[in-house]
Amino acid sequence: MSGRNFLFVPGPTNVPDRVLRAMHRAMEDHRSSDFPSLAAPALEDLKKIFQTRSGQPFIFPASGTGAWEAALSNTLSPGDKVLAARFGMFSHLWIDMAQRLGLDVLVLDAEWGEGAPIERYQEALVADKSHQIKAVLFTHNETATGVTSDVAGMRRALNDTRHPALLMVDGVSSIASIDFRMDEWGVDLAVTGSQKGLMLPAGLGIVCASQKALGLYDQARLPRVFFDFGDMRKANATGYFPYTPSLPMLYGLRESMAMLLEEGLDNVFARHHRLAEGTRRAVQAWGLELCARAPKWNSDTVTAIMVPPSFNGAEVIDIAYRRYNLALGAGLARMAGKLFRIGHLGDLNELMLLGCIAGAEMAMRDVGIGVELGSGVAAAQEYWRTTARPLEKRDLPPRAPEAQPSQAAKKATAGAAR
Ligand code: PLP
Repeated sequence: MSGRNFLFVPGPTNVPDRVLRAMHRAMEDHRSSDFPSLAAPALEDLKKIFQTRSGQPFIFPASGTGAWEAALSNTLSPGDKVLAARFGMFSHLWIDMAQRLGLDVLVLDAEWGEGAPIERYQEALVADKSHQIKAVLFTHNETATGVTSDVAGMRRALNDTRHPALLMVDGVSSIASIDFRMDEWGVDLAVTGSQKGLMLPAGLGIVCASQKALGLYDQARLPRVFFDFGDMRKANATGYFPYTPSLPMLYGLRESMAMLLEEGLDNVFARHHRLAEGTRRAVQAWGLELCARAPKWNSDTVTAIMVPPSFNGAEVIDIAYRRYNLALGAGLARMAGKLFRIGHLGDLNELMLLGCIAGAEMAMRDVGIGVELGSGVAAAQEYWRTTARPLEKRDLPPRAPEAQPSQAAKKATAGAAR
């Protein structure tokens, strides 16, 4: 199909040309004396992305799933109790991993579409007088349902109950797009992947560990080899990796973080919020419901849109892809067919997103959903137009110099006047 593919799944996201160019290199020796000048600054910049001074980032050639495993296996032992809420596909998968690793998971089931139930976490912590719960697993942004939960609130619940459990946060679809403050929120293990807010291909699983989490490494008995923090710390301390790292990904990471830090993290978060809000206005204009059950849970990186009960969201996605070259996110597991998702994170602006909204409208009409063509586009346009940053003088194009009339024109005007 001619033209660009419109990639609007919530990861992988669009990779900016600048990052693609940075990755486009011949391979190098990862044991050369030059290599530390690539790896060490990347690890330092990651601290800014996680908003931590004391945390230690780890980069694994993996994906978010690997980073989940690294967080669990470096700090816990078989049979340890962990507390986790399940309210979407990804919180479910992390729980499943913890169980398969031999942890004893206390599961708090909540409706898919709701955020993490902090009061219920708190009740379980209060009931755990002998501090058997060693870690709390918390999904910051549930990508399957477009729901963001309150990490600061979870930290308050741990503090209020004076519970020493580790706070592990899945920030795979939030970090670098939605405000995430590792130190301020007392997060012990923060997990992400490269293919979302970091605007890279999939290929890196990134974890940041607090000093408290690192202090538990020696006593943690879960088996680990590839994801061993100890091996990684030893190698990283000299600027190297314990095995062959992906050089293009490291060059790309360095560039993508430079872009994020040049824009400023607060501006990045504000941009994501504005883009998300415009998308939500479009959904409202279509007369459709979000999967997120309350505005306080609306995600700024992904919007999950319920299709009317007699329709199949998978058909909308298929038509959008085959007819309009638009990739929308699917409903997962129990949400299959019930919704479609628009990912609006990473390297994105208003006009790109308008293309997605227009394509979604056409695909919905094609399957018979009675949305009015142009209604979502107009609602988003109006929101983005009226909330656009006022242009400052220096943003305005220079005025073209006044055109001087030619001698011939002067003569002609003089003749006409006579
Ligand atoms: N956690 C969340 C919230 C996700 O959205 C995803 C993937 O989309 C994962 C974990 C798993 O990450 P990966 O697919 O990179 O292994």
